[in-house]
Amino acid sequence: MIKVVVLGSGFGGMEAVLTLESRLGKRKDVEITLVSNQNYTLFTPLLPQIVSSYIEPRHIIQTIRDIRRDKKFRFIRDSVTGIDLDRKLIRLSEGELSCDYLVIAIGGTTNYFNVPGAESHTFALKTLQDSAELRDHIIDMLEHADHEHDITLKNEMLTFLIVGGGYTGVELTTELRDFICRYVIKNYKGIRLNDVRIALLEVSREILEGVDPELAKRARAKLQKGGIEVRTDSKVTKCTENGVEINNQYILRTGIVIWTAGVRANPISDSLTVRKGKFGRILVNDYLQIQEFPEAYAIGDNAIVDRETPAKSSQPIAPVAIHQGRIAARNIVNSIENRPLEKYLFTPSGMLISLGMNDAVINIKGFKFVGFIAWLLWNAVHLLKLVGLKKQLQVALDWSLGSIFPRDSAIIRFPQRCRICARKRGVENKKY
Ligand SMILES: Cc1cc2nc3c(=O)[nH]c(=O)nc-3n(C[C@H](O)[C@H](O)[C@H](O)COP(=O)(O)OP(=O)(O)OC[C@H]3O[C@@H](n4cnc5c(N)ncnc54)[C@H](O)[C@@H]3O)c2cc1C
Repeated sequence: MIKVVVLGSGFGGMEAVLTLESRLGKRKDVEITLVSNQNYTLFTPLLPQIVSSYIEPRHIIQTIRDIRRDKKFRFIRDSVTGIDLDRKLIRLSEGELSCDYLVIAIGGTTNYFNVPGAESHTFALKTLQDSAELRDHIIDMLEHADHEHDITLKNEMLTFLIVGGGYTGVELTTELRDFICRYVIKNYKGIRLNDVRIALLEVSREILEGVDPELAKRARAKLQKGGIEVRTDSKVTKCTENGVEINNQYILRTGIVIWTAGVRANPISDSLTVRKGKFGRILVNDYLQIQEFPEAYAIGDNAIVDRETPAKSSQPIAPVAIHQGRIAARNIVNSIENRPLEKYLFTPSGMLISLGMNDAVINIKGFKFVGFIAWLLWNAVHLLKLVGLKKQLQVALDWSLGSIFPRDSAIIRFPQRCRICARKRGVENKKY
């Protein structure tokens, strides 16, 4: 029996497993196994809209069981704790798994760039759980600010800092502003628009690095017009319980810091004794193989193609992961069927960035769109990319209802005690 194992059920891993299934599914001598620590595929581009209560969390995921139906591949929901490439063995929390061919598609993790306190004092936005926790925490902060009489503490509670002016940071910032303008100031009588401060911090000269400069400029102007502070040339040098230090100089006090700056390799890759590229990503050859172990492939956010050219993009974005998943799977089929391997060549066709309700900037193959038309396109493309009619309808309905009815501010899980209130009362900041 030839054992093919795919690790990770994100964009890259799912594409790999479905390609393998379509090419090898009928063969009796091949066993395909997918292992992932989550039993679903997450549509990450819509995570900011979970934070702003625009759409429901379960509407942007598709369970593996639904995708699998009568397909043959096995699915194991478990965490990979280690990979022994010499022995072709994968260690899981609940056991071990051997393989003949392997696709490592376990994605990346937030890159804190060794900034002291960043990991422990900021919120990340990578997983569904991150988005739900962040949403609850923001709403809890608003609940406290609503009845806070001390103006300094209230300002602190209503200051939201987003670190990282990439597309995730920009989309989250505009979603947050929409939530505040469309819902909070109407329903929280103790909060006025002027009390709220949203700031986007970016280390470089401009936000949206890598995006067409004209579109990036347009996005910046839109953010500023909407009352968002865009602070470029602002490097966060330290994070504490009470806020962040910028450029080793001044401190911004705040209740919430959200870290969206950067992606690094999954910590599991750190233990692999193979060549690594920038930010610990596994270095792969033109065929997406790990050079030292040609039966092992690495793709997506966790990998980087050696001697990258624009035609061999390793950008940490979904289309790259999907394309790499397809090529890695095809190359495994080629190896099993003794055919030559296929080279990975892919240039992403563009970028779509939402600027909140009714506005977006888009560049598809050099064709640029801004404003309402771009926003309609953004919605249409994301709806089409969502897998499954049920999910498409659910998200479309969420969007429609969100334009007619108010959003909601129910806190789903017990949040941590408000640390600003805890500090004021001199008590420990622990769970209720
Ligand atoms: C908030 C946000 C917004 C984004 N917006 C866009 C966008 O608009 N457009 C775009 O192109 N890209 C976007 N991206 C980037 C895109 O999501 C990634 O580039 C893409 O998901 C990478 O695919 P991947 O398969 O490498 O990893 P992932 O999709 O991250 O999948 C990794 C998989 O591995 C699993 N896994 C991780 N560790 C383990 C372990 N130890 N054991 C078992 N399983 C494990 C995970 O559960 C997951 O199933 C966004 C990302 C985020 C976080």
